Amino acid sequence: MRDCENALWPCSMTGAVSCLAGIDGIGTVIHGPSGCYYYPATILHREIHCTSLIEEDIICGTGEQLRDLVTKIRPRYPLLAVVNTCTPAIIGEDFSALIPPDVLMVDSPGFLGTFEDGYRAAVDMLPVKIDPYPTGVNLDGVNLLDPFSPGNVIEARRILSDAGVMVSATFCSGKLEDLSRASSVRVGTNPDLCSGWGEAAGSLLGLRATQDTLAALDRRFPGVDPGVFEREMETVREAITVACGKYLNRYEPPSVAIFSWSGYAEFAARMLHDYLDAAITVVGSRNRAGSSKFRTAEASSLPVVEDLLARDPPDLVLGSSFEQRLCPAAAFVPFTYPLRGMVRLRARPLIGSQGLLGLMEDVLNACRDHAPGRPGG
Ligand code: SF4
Repeated sequence: MRDCENALWPCSMTGAVSCLAGIDGIGTVIHGPSGCYYYPATILHREIHCTSLIEEDIICGTGEQLRDLVTKIRPRYPLLAVVNTCTPAIIGEDFSALIPPDVLMVDSPGFLGTFEDGYRAAVDMLPVKIDPYPTGVNLDGVNLLDPFSPGNVIEARRILSDAGVMVSATFCSGKLEDLSRASSVRVGTNPDLCSGWGEAAGSLLGLRATQDTLAALDRRFPGVDPGVFEREMETVREAITVACGKYLNRYEPPSVAIFSWSGYAEFAARMLHDYLDAAITVVGSRNRAGSSKFRTAEASSLPVVEDLLARDPPDLVLGSSFEQRLCPAAAFVPFTYPLRGMVRLRARPLIGSQGLLGLMEDVLNACRDHAPGRPGG
């Protein structure tokens, strides 16, 4: 069961909602009190409905509230999905006779698991049809909570299009109808959010991974050309090496603490270590930590993050507003949800060439701005 004390990461109910609400054509209902609703409604920025249960409903039964809301909004959407929350789940009501059979019922109350568990539970229930003769790939790991997802979609489409590969369906964004012609091959963007729809052909997170993925697609589909990306990759590597070399001529390599999904944080740690000779004080994972050559720790509560930062204070923090506030003396690069007190309008990828360039650009600028002798340094 999830430990909710000082949790920095949303619950499995929000994970399920973030999957469903990302798809154009699915109406999403949260069956629970308004407290459960306001959190995902605030952070996901999509229209979400709620049965807004109150004490009386809990005592007398919540089914009527759910049936009334479903009846009212069902005509507005090609598909409606209901996500259960902790309170009705604990009561143990059976809604199967109350709501139409074509409404998806996702049982993902927060106490059942993590954000990633909820996302996967909802993805599994999507009405997906796999095209037996695919002409493209599915994009995987796209999610409303991820500040890099809009940029990742643009960067993935650019790289794949340059290689002559189409995108069939995106998990989870885009149109509902795309799910009915999904590919049997998928390409990842965020290693911690895999849909499972289609066979994995690799990831686009990092230059080498992207190169390997395009090579794998070249073996599967006729007419794929990985050459465009391979040429681009050399230019990107050279640009980053030159920029980091100039930085290291003037400044010491930074010590860095990184907080995010395990896969993203590990990727950033490797890049900063390889290009900037950075000392990684900790890779703080919001979800289950993966294996790493760096010091890793699960960092999903405020006291744990505070302790990790205090034990080995870094020069630079990649993370959320929580880490920024806990470590005000360090340079900061926005890297994971939540990011408060800043304007972010641009789509920023983390994958592919543009993702790596953007990461290194942000890191070098933040370090330079914070360097001794500069205002704020
Ligand atoms: S579903 Fe449960 S854990 Fe999630 S917000 Fe509601 S009460 Fe909290």
